[in-house]
Amino acid sequence: MSASSSTASSFETIIGLEVHAQLKTGSKMFCGCRVEFGAPPNTLVCPVCLGLPGALPVTNSNAIALALRAALALGCAVHTRSVFARKNYFYHDLPKGFQITQYDQPLATDGSLALVSEVGGEAVSVRIRRLHLEEDAGKSLHDRFPGLTAVDLNRAGIPLIEIVSEPDLRSPALARAYVTRLKQTLEYLEVSDGNMEEGSLRVDANVSVRPRGSRDLGTKSEVKNMNSFSQLEKALTYVAAQHVKLTEAGSVVEHQTMLWDPARGEARPMREKEDIHDYRYFPEPDLPTLVVSEAEIERTRRGLPELPWQKEERFVHEYGLPGYDAEVLSATRPLADFFEAVAGAAADPKTVSNWVMGEVMAACNEGGVGIAELGLEPGALAELIGLVGSGTLSNNLGKQVLRKMIETGKAPEQIIDEDDLSKVSDVGQIEAWVAAVIEDNPKEVERYRRGEEKLLSFFIGQVMQKSKGRADPARLREVLLGAINRDWGG
Ligand code: ADP
Ligand code: MG
Ligand code: ZN
Repeated sequence: MSASSSTASSFETIIGLEVHAQLKTGSKMFCGCRVEFGAPPNTLVCPVCLGLPGALPVTNSNAIALALRAALALGCAVHTRSVFARKNYFYHDLPKGFQITQYDQPLATDGSLALVSEVGGEAVSVRIRRLHLEEDAGKSLHDRFPGLTAVDLNRAGIPLIEIVSEPDLRSPALARAYVTRLKQTLEYLEVSDGNMEEGSLRVDANVSVRPRGSRDLGTKSEVKNMNSFSQLEKALTYVAAQHVKLTEAGSVVEHQTMLWDPARGEARPMREKEDIHDYRYFPEPDLPTLVVSEAEIERTRRGLPELPWQKEERFVHEYGLPGYDAEVLSATRPLADFFEAVAGAAADPKTVSNWVMGEVMAACNEGGVGIAELGLEPGALAELIGLVGSGTLSNNLGKQVLRKMIETGKAPEQIIDEDDLSKVSDVGQIEAWVAAVIEDNPKEVERYRRGEEKLLSFFIGQVMQKSKGRADPARLREVLLGAINRDWGG
């Protein structure tokens, strides 16, 4: 069963994605203009990216290097010769009247990305049709001046890669998993920061439905303007359901581009420049053939970092972690590095994993920060884990100390000293707490003695409260049982 069955079990959802990722370069694709998000409008422009007559493009070699890394990590065949082409159309955010992209001879083709299906955990390999380089267009601002559209050309000419998948995805959830994996991979490669909100990762989703068992592809809709993973999944679910409804009603699905409206949770047909699909592509006359040598391809391949799926596998083998832990801890490189630093200094990797996936990630989520911004030293966490392991701190106290460590940046030993937090095993002290609790709760003691044994945990809780969590649980149980029984009838 796939998730598309929630739309209608007799139809299958087919999805192919075109993902645009902004490359992490300091300057634009064909000129020296700086790349920066949020700069004042039209301050990062020059004759080349403004498309002024006579200005000539020069290819940014760093952009090519980054695209090459992405292509190789995705298992693509890289072509030593590829060609830039002009895609001609008129739009106010495109001052040259054409976009420089790659068309019939792209940088790379025939890659794949392995996913694990959210249903039943089966392995899915999504074929990547092509990966090519192109430049971004400017940005239209429709809401600044009533009745007018403003144009910011800071984005015009920023280098992008476009990654086109085959229609291999069979549910909106799997499409989301694909984009998540792709973003993670590009981040690992330091090719793109993958920020969907800032538009450095943009997804055009193609979706169609067909009767189960059919081998033909149905007519697709192209959906744009999803700015988060959850919006992507919602938009695809919405459009697929529309296709099913139309088909079941005996209507024809028309090929359309739809704009997703996150606020209203619906997709509308786009008023469009792009419906007239004649871009009159031709090779860009101002740029030479893009040549990448075999040597450079090999050098790049050797220089690839450990990729997410490789790291996950290593975490399972090297640290004996469950697959789930390996996946969570490998979500980002900083998190994985943090885990490894702690694991290297502490005894048991699974215990470290529990702390990192539990308390540490909860603190990150609470603060809305990444592991790097949390300011927690791996060595300090290892020390804390050691203190809990040796019994100096109870588990609960350990969590308390960790919270203080994050707040103050202090070492665990110092916090334990200052707050007088270490576990109390001293029998005299525990007996005093127990005696006080028995005295304070005569009714409960009475009931316990009449056979309500479950009240034992109530007493333990009371003593824990009195001791501010410091009483050694094993000792406490012993003392408590002894005290209640000794006083029995007396
Ligand atoms: P177009 O010519 O309309 O651009 P392409 O064949 O180039 O269409 O494919 C563009 C994207 O749409 C690819 O990611 C591809 O996987 C996807 N795609 C193509 N046909 C379908 C379909 N029938 N249903 C869903 N996705 C599709
Ligand atoms: Mg296309
Ligand atoms: Zn420029």
